[in-house]
Amino acid sequence: MFEKILIANRGEIALRIQRACRELGIKTVVVHSVADTEAKYVKLADESVCIGPPPSAQSYLNVPSIISAAEVTDAEAIHPGYGFLSENAGFAERVEKSGFVFIGPRPETIALMGDKVNAKRAMTEAGVPCVPGSEGELPAEPKEIIAIARATGYPVIVKAAGGGGGRGMRVVHTEAALLNAVTTTRAEAAAAFGNPALYIEKYLENPRHIEVQVLADAYRNAVYLGERDCSMQRRHQKVIEEAPAPKINRRALTRVSERCAEACRKINYRGAGTFEFLYENGEFYFIEMNTRVQVEHPVTELVTGIDIVQAQIRIADGEKLWFRQREVVTKGHAIECRINAEDPFRFTPSPGRIDTYHQPGGPGIRIDSHVYQGYTVPPHYDSLIGKLIATGDSREQAIKRMRIALSEMVVEGIKTNIPLHQELMHDARFLEGGANIHYLEEKLAAKEEATKGKS
Ligand code: ADP
Repeated sequence: MFEKILIANRGEIALRIQRACRELGIKTVVVHSVADTEAKYVKLADESVCIGPPPSAQSYLNVPSIISAAEVTDAEAIHPGYGFLSENAGFAERVEKSGFVFIGPRPETIALMGDKVNAKRAMTEAGVPCVPGSEGELPAEPKEIIAIARATGYPVIVKAAGGGGGRGMRVVHTEAALLNAVTTTRAEAAAAFGNPALYIEKYLENPRHIEVQVLADAYRNAVYLGERDCSMQRRHQKVIEEAPAPKINRRALTRVSERCAEACRKINYRGAGTFEFLYENGEFYFIEMNTRVQVEHPVTELVTGIDIVQAQIRIADGEKLWFRQREVVTKGHAIECRINAEDPFRFTPSPGRIDTYHQPGGPGIRIDSHVYQGYTVPPHYDSLIGKLIATGDSREQAIKRMRIALSEMVVEGIKTNIPLHQELMHDARFLEGGANIHYLEEKLAAKEEATKGKS
């Protein structure tokens, strides 16, 4: 097993990876920016290296600094976490060329899945059902674009092949609006992702977001660890995730999960990964694959008992998968609330010092967070300050425990979205289970209308 791993990330996931390493008896090196010098996980690490000033471009995205930190500390492998360089094929390649192990898939796989047009083609070939639409990249010829959209059927969504983070897509309802939308999205895609390639998909009106977690070793063995429902979203950003997904066609899900594992064998996938699907009228449609650990991985860990981060490390170390598909048994229910430093209803970021902090506990409660009383949330990064996860024998029990935990949790000095989560844990549609990806936006819009009406 590796003796020392470098963690190329920050915040809760840096702490999560560090805990996995410590349990495996692996020493850790944490790289950090000047803004994170005081973070507790930096102090807890066996070694730490400051790699630059607060802006990510000069620190967490600074490849040469990260590689030299690994060299001077003699680390053997690099865990990229999520975000930052985790899905950067160039970084993975640099890591391997410099003689370190990249804890993730091979660089070619990251590149393949990072281009959504290629990813969809690979998935179709592997028998994974995709959202209907253009076959491959959109041509330049307007007549051909119009023909493709017509064949797909309106409404359609124009998407950037290199897109990510919910950006670079545009919904088109009529033929009259099509060519303008294509021109604008193409220009945006070229500027934001350095890749003007576009594709068209049928725009699904009321889908749910369901994703399948997989694990694959370097010897073409692959298993799926069940699904997560991540339909509670705002601006295509997940707010609440749960496992298993309530009210779902289980047979269709098993079928599609088997196809995912098969696809992993086919493309020689290595490590942890997530196949994201839209689910509508009992059918699954692949949208993209994430080739890294997800923020919401704990809900899967809690219902399967499998430590996904440790699995990533063991697989990167060359271990063969140590269990089979039939040994993956899910039990109970888990729900995760992402706790963000932001205004709960306006969503403006709220960095600053946490003056009072009290973390909830009790049966079925897990918290993945790097913050503590007196910690200052820096303004330079993502607003996630922690994840509150509740489990229970049933969905109802998990919800009850989540309500109690949210009522116990105290974070003062900054604003958090805890009040939004409290409201959602009593929301009739959420309690029913199976709300679609537009539900939260619609609820928030209605709430805003109501407040306007009053003032
Ligand atoms: P990104 O990589 O930017 O996250 P995705 O392709 O994963 O982009 O899509 C993000 C979100 O956009 C989905 O979770 C869904 O809410 C919405 N979306 C994407 N494609 C479609 C589609 N064909 N129909 C309806 N909604 C879509």
